[in-house]
Amino acid sequence: MSVRKVEALDIEDLPSGKPVRVLLQIVHDPMGMPLEVPVIVIKGTKPGPVFGVTAAVHGNELNGLPVIHRLVDRIDAQKLRGTLVMAAPVNVPGYHRNVRRFVDQRDLNTMFPGRADGHASHVFAHRLMDRLVRHFDFLVDLHTASFGRENSLYVRADMRQPMTAKLARLARPQIILHNPPSDRTLRGAAAELEIPAITVEIGDPQVLQPRYIKPTLTGIRSMLAEVEMLPKRAVAPGAPPILCKTSRWFYTDHGGLLSVMPQVTDTVAEGDLIARQRDVWGDVVREYHAPFSGVIIGRSTNPVGQTGARIVHLGRVTDVLPPPKAEDVVETAED
Ligand SMILES: [Zn+2]
Repeated sequence: MSVRKVEALDIEDLPSGKPVRVLLQIVHDPMGMPLEVPVIVIKGTKPGPVFGVTAAVHGNELNGLPVIHRLVDRIDAQKLRGTLVMAAPVNVPGYHRNVRRFVDQRDLNTMFPGRADGHASHVFAHRLMDRLVRHFDFLVDLHTASFGRENSLYVRADMRQPMTAKLARLARPQIILHNPPSDRTLRGAAAELEIPAITVEIGDPQVLQPRYIKPTLTGIRSMLAEVEMLPKRAVAPGAPPILCKTSRWFYTDHGGLLSVMPQVTDTVAEGDLIARQRDVWGDVVREYHAPFSGVIIGRSTNPVGQTGARIVHLGRVTDVLPPPKAEDVVETAED
């Protein structure tokens, strides 16, 4: 199949009724060659919204790529209303080197909406918004945990926004974390443009996990049906997600070999032992207890823990969302 090279996404210009492969030029590398993000566009035969899916903004967060590949295999363009635009890997240099960060060692997902005249990450983020993301009517940004950690299948979403909340619930996550996008993430920049946007955290970095990939795929198909881009079909309801109104990461205050007891999606009660640290002689130097009752959204898997190492990402569970009181909201950075 041929690949079109373009400098900006022009959906009007693309053929409908079949998947189209596009290399979207964003910046140039030191060889003077274009740095191109692979984008697959499926333009339906009837007009409708533009639904964007992005993956690997962090270059080593890979579970989103097979989600996109399977979507391409399974979407019948003849039945599609509107346009599905899937970009992955967004962070091409990070993907090449199997690392989270961009070519300038910065975290791209703290750089949005970027700047036209900024440093490498700022310019990349700015042009990605201008050439791709601003065309979207909806955005699902696919991530995983960072290196040395694991995540549940969880969604970050501003649950005060009805359409965003609907997308979050349709994603079939184990956990939904209410998280206003007042940060410098891609999701936040999209929300600033009034694009309903969610981040889906699909398990662990540097691996492909079918048990998380499959529900995410089903979830995106349900979202496409919800916005009337695909015919609705009956899907067995998944287990209801655990709702969290806020969350916090907890850190060690000592160094040593770290073992974290609870697994992701486990619930813990205030005071439960959650981690133990031993020095190189085998002596226990610290025990850590849950500071409040909650659910384990993510956890450290790297036993090498210096003072200040992450232990668990603990969510405060609620029955009702939204909205939490402003003073309850504790920001945790996206994984
Ligand atoms: Zn990420």
